[in-house]
Amino acid sequence: MLNRKNYKFWFCTGSQDLYGDECLEHVAQHAKIIVEKLNESGFLPYEVVWKPTLITSTLIRKTFNEANMDEECAGVITWMHTFSPAKSWIIGLQEYRKPLLHLHTQFNEEIPYDTIDMDFMNENQSAHGDREYGHIVSRMGIERKVVVGHWSDEVVQKRIGEWMRTAVGVIESSHIRVMRVADNMRNVAVTEGDKVEAQLKFGWEIDTYPVNEIAECVNSVSVADTMALVDEYYDTYDILLEGRDPKEFREHVAVQAQIELGFERFLEEKNYHAIVTHFGDLGSLKQLPGLAIQRLMQKGYGFGAEGDWKVAAMVRLMKIMTEGMKDAKGTSMLEDYTYNFVKGKEGILQAHMLEICPTIADGPISIKCQPLSMGDREDPARLVFTSKEGPGIAISLIDLGNRFRLIINDVKCKKNEKPMPKLPVATNFWEPQPDLYTGAEAWILAGGAHHTAFSYDLTAEQMGDWAAAMGIEAVYIDKDTTIRNFKRDLMLGDIFYK
Ligand code: MN
Repeated sequence: MLNRKNYKFWFCTGSQDLYGDECLEHVAQHAKIIVEKLNESGFLPYEVVWKPTLITSTLIRKTFNEANMDEECAGVITWMHTFSPAKSWIIGLQEYRKPLLHLHTQFNEEIPYDTIDMDFMNENQSAHGDREYGHIVSRMGIERKVVVGHWSDEVVQKRIGEWMRTAVGVIESSHIRVMRVADNMRNVAVTEGDKVEAQLKFGWEIDTYPVNEIAECVNSVSVADTMALVDEYYDTYDILLEGRDPKEFREHVAVQAQIELGFERFLEEKNYHAIVTHFGDLGSLKQLPGLAIQRLMQKGYGFGAEGDWKVAAMVRLMKIMTEGMKDAKGTSMLEDYTYNFVKGKEGILQAHMLEICPTIADGPISIKCQPLSMGDREDPARLVFTSKEGPGIAISLIDLGNRFRLIINDVKCKKNEKPMPKLPVATNFWEPQPDLYTGAEAWILAGGAHHTAFSYDLTAEQMGDWAAAMGIEAVYIDKDTTIRNFKRDLMLGDIFYK
């Protein structure tokens, strides 16, 4: 479902003809070596492509416009090897519309003390040329990432790799299509929002279909297809009958298998990448989609419960940004449910009534079938598991009426202290940073929602850079957060993003 695209990033080196052809040959050679080594590093999720050295405003403009037009190009990496008078970059930068990275590096790692002369200085003057270039990008108010350090340094290579994922998030955001088969839950505020503004800012298309259109598609899935998927479930997951009749249990599971297949066909046919449902608006569906939605999320679809289209789009976005990541630990929708306030063991139990993505699971995954106190349908089958330990980020995108705000909280996921045998849902448990008390206070002051898009595999920096590229406010709740400073951040945001 994720349909990994073969994105590439262009490597554009700036220079000028003041120092002669031999110098320009060195510039090109150096850039080619850097590109080759970056591609060999193993830290970049996408390929870097070397482009001929840019020395005139005509060529710069042409190159940036070619980058705009090339569907495979997800961004341009710029580096001023020598001095490149920055007025030459103005028109090209004005017309450029994709993510921009300024790699502030130089070819040599160490100053060659014994041999350095003025020729060397003229040829290797990124410290000088990159400042001239940085000046014009700042003066033009263009959002870009600056990464500083020697290109052979793993830290630098990893930062370039992380930025590439952000850049793909920026490019892919405008391809996200969310299907709503139910409206937002009655009377709930935070799941609402301006869908037109979301399309203007993020490029998301958010459309509604009557729930019975997708229910008809579910009903048309054949018994044979449904039973084949049920067999797959039974091969993949532990079955926890908990006293239920095995045949009756299997029939409940089959309802979810039919929903998974019907939903997936409907989404594919209509080209949607995320979906929202609502337990109070299920039409002719026999169960609230639980296991079915969990499987769709695992395949890369975004999901938001109770009509929460902002979370659905964010989960989809974050799944695209982490796509193909080696050792990925998972991305899911989650919801703040219950606190543990015991000193030294503080945290928030994360769950939902059913729909947590199994990519975040740690250990075995089981199927349970239990009554749902919400809604009026038969007992839905769902996947039950606990989640991995380690750092992650919880994201909430809120609509403040005149603008969007992205709230980013670093969280530390922990094992549940004890098993919860009577809880029939998947869970995660985390301690928000800097601690539960400050983290929750800041989250509430910022207006953060109870639904979050969560990932182990992205950083606050990546999501903040994405927000900056979208032109919206991002606020960070992390190890450095104090309430006094956080309130000042919110006040500054109110002024700046008016
Ligand atoms: Mn909910």
